[in-house]
Amino acid sequence: MAKLQPVRGTHDIMGDQARTFQFIQGVFQDIATRFGHQEISTPIFEFTEVFSRTLGETSDVVSKEMYSFEDRGGESLTLRPEYTAGIVRAFISNGLQQSLPCKFFGSGPMFRYERPQKGRMRQFHQLDVEILGVAEPQADIEVLALAATLLSELGLMDDVTLEINSLGDTESRLANRDALVTYFTAHKSSLGEDSLARLKKNPMRILDSKDEGDRALVADAPRISDYYNQASKAFFDEVLAGLDALNIKYVINERLVRGLDYYSHTAFEFITSKLGAQGTVLAGGRYDGLMEIMGGPPTAGIGWAAGIERLAELVSPDLVPGEPRPIAIVPVGSDCQEQALKIAQQLRTAGHAAHMSYRGNMAKRMKRANKADAIAAVIIGEDELARAVVTIKNFDDGSQTEVSLDQLMNHLSHYR
Ligand code: ATP
Ligand code: MG
Repeated sequence: MAKLQPVRGTHDIMGDQARTFQFIQGVFQDIATRFGHQEISTPIFEFTEVFSRTLGETSDVVSKEMYSFEDRGGESLTLRPEYTAGIVRAFISNGLQQSLPCKFFGSGPMFRYERPQKGRMRQFHQLDVEILGVAEPQADIEVLALAATLLSELGLMDDVTLEINSLGDTESRLANRDALVTYFTAHKSSLGEDSLARLKKNPMRILDSKDEGDRALVADAPRISDYYNQASKAFFDEVLAGLDALNIKYVINERLVRGLDYYSHTAFEFITSKLGAQGTVLAGGRYDGLMEIMGGPPTAGIGWAAGIERLAELVSPDLVPGEPRPIAIVPVGSDCQEQALKIAQQLRTAGHAAHMSYRGNMAKRMKRANKADAIAAVIIGEDELARAVVTIKNFDDGSQTEVSLDQLMNHLSHYR
């Protein structure tokens, strides 16, 4: 029966986890809306080119992790591994350059062919925020403030650290890149295999190498901050001043980099030590060159994505609202079914949660109602029906009250 297992790295989301996801998404939507972002849902799949162009052929996602397939029409399609590329594609497809700035948020499933482990799945879920068309550092500050507000309303501010860096503008980054190539080429023989490959394609990424040997080399590598030009330094200072003004704590991490050329200025991550190896809960940065790579008009961009599974691991169950306590509808005898149905429908229409009791004798039904944490039961018996009354049992104080059908809704309104 192996076929009845879910695909490796995918999960069914239900029960407490489903409630936690819903809570996180609800808080996120609420905050993103307060920050002036509009919801966008892009398709789950796009032409493969949308991702291969924007994420870069050398990135881990494109080179190893994409779920790509040919559809029946022979098109190469890919299940989205992230949100940004689809949103930038949507911006171009819908000709939104007249409506800048565009502030978007979205959430939903993402797909990456990764080695499944704790905090790393093949289908996972992200919250995503993007601002298009704002080249000023105010956008960097705002998306970071949105992230901090979210983490704080999820009760996670004490669990996470904001690490931030600036890659500088194109000029600064290229100067740093040349220095890095010179430095690492001189120490080529001590570089790990992955880093050797990166030296040609993506030298900046050597700085976040996990290889022990590389780390020693990285410690003495040219520092990116030494290559900031005036404008880059001023930009970064303004972002940090904004964070200070909002009392958002951060640590500058000069090894926090992004490999691709369209990234510039701010890069950041909120990390935690509470999730083991997969400690990044939220990551983002500025990608001013991305729109042009996709064939759109030059348009600044900045955004972030957070893994919902990783957030859900951290969120305290006490914060997640439980389900409302239901009113149990307990018909006794088959002649009472129809009245039970009607009462359940009336209650649900009036906004109550009503749980229908389907089978068993009275004692069994009451036991089940209690187990479902019902606040009360409406007991509908044949004799009572003949007199147009029902019995309400209050599970909290054990009292039983006979109530006429006319007064039923009025009486039960006290239970909301
Ligand atoms: P990592 O270094 O963990 O592989 P990444 O750089 O690939 O992360 P991003 O593309 O920046 O991650 O995605 C943003 C966030 O989405 C991550 O910080 C993480 O919370 C979440 N995430 C990424 N990949 C996965 C995955 N396979 N399973 C669960 N969550 C993920
Ligand atoms: Mg990854």
